Amino acid sequence: MQGYISAIPFSQGHGAVELGCSELHETLIIRHINEIKRRNAAVFIILGLGVLSKRNLHQKIIYKLKTVELLMNCVRYLLKASYFCSMIEDKNQEHTALSSLGEFGLIDHLTRQFVDKNPSTVKGIGDDAAILDFKNKSVVLTTDLLLEGVHFDLSYMPLKHLGYKAIMVNLSDVYAMNATATQVTVSIAVSNRFTLEALEALYDGVRQAAEVYGVDVVGGDTTSSKTGLMISVTAVGEVDLESVVKRDGAQPNDLLVVSGDLGGAYLGLQVLEREKQVFKVNPNNQPDLEAYTYIIERQLKPEARKDIVKLLKDLDVLPTSMIDISDGLSSEVIHLCKQSEVGCDLYETKIPLDPQVISTSEEFKMDSTTVALNGGEDYELLMTISQEDFPKIKANPNLTVIGYMTDSTNGMNLVTRAEAKIPLTAQGWNPLSSDSES
Ligand code: ADP
Ligand code: MG
Repeated sequence: MQGYISAIPFSQGHGAVELGCSELHETLIIRHINEIKRRNAAVFIILGLGVLSKRNLHQKIIYKLKTVELLMNCVRYLLKASYFCSMIEDKNQEHTALSSLGEFGLIDHLTRQFVDKNPSTVKGIGDDAAILDFKNKSVVLTTDLLLEGVHFDLSYMPLKHLGYKAIMVNLSDVYAMNATATQVTVSIAVSNRFTLEALEALYDGVRQAAEVYGVDVVGGDTTSSKTGLMISVTAVGEVDLESVVKRDGAQPNDLLVVSGDLGGAYLGLQVLEREKQVFKVNPNNQPDLEAYTYIIERQLKPEARKDIVKLLKDLDVLPTSMIDISDGLSSEVIHLCKQSEVGCDLYETKIPLDPQVISTSEEFKMDSTTVALNGGEDYELLMTISQEDFPKIKANPNLTVIGYMTDSTNGMNLVTRAEAKIPLTAQGWNPLSSDSES
């Protein structure tokens, strides 16, 4: 069997330790273990084709690595790891046909792991509908649908990550309302090409996301699909009506502020697409993804900015408007401006970019500003704040002022490095190169 292994750092997660590896590439496993040792890294993912199930993991490693000493080293370092996942559909794992469980058996199997923790969850999974009680709070509700072939490609999107990301995409919308996410429902349509083990991986990601972000999975629906996989998540959140932040509250002179950095998720996707093509031509080729760890993680395992909602509260800053960045900075700035009936000047030089975004843009011969403006899927929060709140945020590394709002007659502009003003468009001021996704 052919292997496909690489290791990428994985931040902040906790979870089961699994090892993804190929039967033919123990030298690579050793190389990666040495790398983990060298960096003393606590967190690594090994992406692999041919994941060993946890049950036979130890035997295989003993068999492959021969020495017990090496095994112990291996296990010690692996135990530090956050989690390991399969890059491409697992060929070694056990297969349990979905038909052997039936619909209700499957629902029961996938959902019995969920334990409700929020006081607002009165009744979760198991009845015709969930019962939620928010007392005197307002409720926000949002849905997103992810479709195989349109929103994700399972040849490089591990199912566990897909489950995690499906939750993130929705929680990001809740946080963009300045609300606290409390519940989600998860609906899936699957074809019989998926095994129970594959859906377990998907739900592992869902469970991990729910745990880390403190939301209860209170329901969903399960049905069959004749074509690809579909996963639809609805998220519920709570907020005091006076703290809710909408898209339409920006005023002229407000500062335009963004969390984190931009463009990474899009470039991560470009790298994964490129590796997929290389892999198709030569499955023996071992990609070195070392230089792209951050941007690949941004694509495969985005984190919704719950921390920013808390930070704003701690700083005592209530944004005048807010939106999450799912379609690219440019398009979100336009949404804020249009709904608030204001204009804006956005400064190219202020857009926060990770060094990996800059280097990978150069490699792909793309303009990093274009990537940040149009890339999408960064799931950062874009907001406007009143000028008088500037001292509260100015020293904060999580928040960057990238421009300011103006009267609507000024229009919506990008102020370039050369200080030229270019009107912002939803596709950006300079279309992405023709061989890339738009
Ligand atoms: P109904 O026939 O009323 O739609 P189901 O048998 O589909 O009920 O679902 C039974 C329970 O399991 C419900 O509480 C439902 O919300 C929950 N559920 C069904 N599918 C999923 C899923 N994929 N993920 C989480 N919960 C689910
Ligand atoms: Mg149902």
